[in-house]
Amino acid sequence: MEKELKDIRAYHLKVIEDKLIELITHKNRILAAQSEEIGEFKKSFDEFKPLTQVIQKTTRECLQEFQSKLDEADRQAIQQFHQQQDQLEYHANRLNQQQSQMQMIQELFEQQTKQRFQIAEMQKAKERMLNELQQTKEELEQKKFLKQQLMNNFKLSQQQQIQLQQELKDTEHQKRYWNNLLQEAKGNIRVYCRIRPNSQEDMLLLNGECTLVLRVPERFLKSTNCQKESSFNFEHIFNQEADQQEIYNELSDLVQNVVDGHNVCIFAYGQTGSGKTYTMQGDDYNKGVIPRAVEQIFQERQGMLELGWQTSIRVGFQEIYNEQSRDLITNQKCDEVKLLDVKDIFEVAEHFNTAKKNRQVAETLSNEVSSRSHFIFQLNLQGHLGDKQINSTLNLIDLAGSERANVAKTEGDRFTETKAINKSLSALGDVFNALYTKQQHVPFRNSKLTFSLYKYMEGSSKTLMMVNISSRSEDFQQTLASLRFAEKVKSCQIKK
Ligand code: ADP
Ligand code: MG
Repeated sequence: MEKELKDIRAYHLKVIEDKLIELITHKNRILAAQSEEIGEFKKSFDEFKPLTQVIQKTTRECLQEFQSKLDEADRQAIQQFHQQQDQLEYHANRLNQQQSQMQMIQELFEQQTKQRFQIAEMQKAKERMLNELQQTKEELEQKKFLKQQLMNNFKLSQQQQIQLQQELKDTEHQKRYWNNLLQEAKGNIRVYCRIRPNSQEDMLLLNGECTLVLRVPERFLKSTNCQKESSFNFEHIFNQEADQQEIYNELSDLVQNVVDGHNVCIFAYGQTGSGKTYTMQGDDYNKGVIPRAVEQIFQERQGMLELGWQTSIRVGFQEIYNEQSRDLITNQKCDEVKLLDVKDIFEVAEHFNTAKKNRQVAETLSNEVSSRSHFIFQLNLQGHLGDKQINSTLNLIDLAGSERANVAKTEGDRFTETKAINKSLSALGDVFNALYTKQQHVPFRNSKLTFSLYKYMEGSSKTLMMVNISSRSEDFQQTLASLRFAEKVKSCQIKK
């Protein structure tokens, strides 16, 4: 066995050794072939070496040329790049500009849209207006037609108006005629009595509108030689409650006489404080006879103007103190006051204020001139229409206080004043008496007062004596004196 194994191993070793030899031989063959190839390659390399150098050189030159071209291209590219950048900037600017233009255009467009909307609205409004215009045109046509109709009617009514105007003139004429007749019936002189308010005493009692009973207070019974009660009758007696309107209602027909062409005198008589000035002038809230008469005459004048009268109104303000006459507008002594033209009642009021101021100035110089002087307001109305003419004067007189009965008890300035007042008031009574009993001689020259008023008291003139009395028992004697004076005046018309 062991020999077998030795043989096997020796066999395998022989095989491996053969294989190794075979491999080494093969390797050597390959190496020999390789070195042969290398030798050939080296040989061909050496052959190609100069060519390679030429190629190398050419390649380098080409590379250089290529490099310079590349640089040139680079430079141009950079230049182009800058140019393009500039252009880009330029375009960017343009773009911005265009953008803002676009914005403007956008705004314009919006505005235009709004305007278009407005135009559309206006168009609608225009259409509406055109419609309205059309309507108005149609209405105008209708109105033209109506106007034509009215014109025709107007022509007719104009004729009627002329007829009516004629009738109105006739009525006016009749009104004057009846008013005058009424005055004549009432007498050319009337006596009214007004009792001053604010008295609880029963010295005066009214019996109807025309009769007044005076009860003599106990303490005066012995000193006066009259009965316990005496009654007086006048055309009208106003009690304490009567207001200014009530008074005026009863004398406005007299003022109407002025417009009818008659002279009128309205006197306020009575002791100081009995309400003469209140009756004549009143206050701001209770206008008296003067402002109401002025208003009435201006109103009547308007009616005259409408009937075609040409008219003028003049006023004057006079004061008679101590037998001297003074114009209260010029504030100068005068024989006759200067009458001033007036357009309306406001001008009269202005002159009245001047007169009042001038009277007040005099008052500060001498005490209470107003109660010791006579105040005369004159309003003259002139007018003509065709052959008709009027020239009449309204005299409203606020007389001096009638209380100065006893001259013997006064002295100095008071004596002169009292004498002057007594003289003028009794002259007034005498003139009434002479006038209304148709005496030949009228003693109007006896006092400045009667001298100033005479021409307005004679003829067809109308006179009203408003006697203001107090019902306080302490004023009994003055009230009695006033009532007696009033009675005397009233008796003139009975004697007629
Ligand atoms: P006279 O002018 O007679 O001296 P007044 O008119 O000045 O008297 O009146 C004296 C005062 O009595 C005034 O304050 C006046 O306002 C007032 N008075 C007179 N009468 C009335 C009346 N009827 N109603 C209201 N107040 C009157
Ligand atoms: Mg007075």
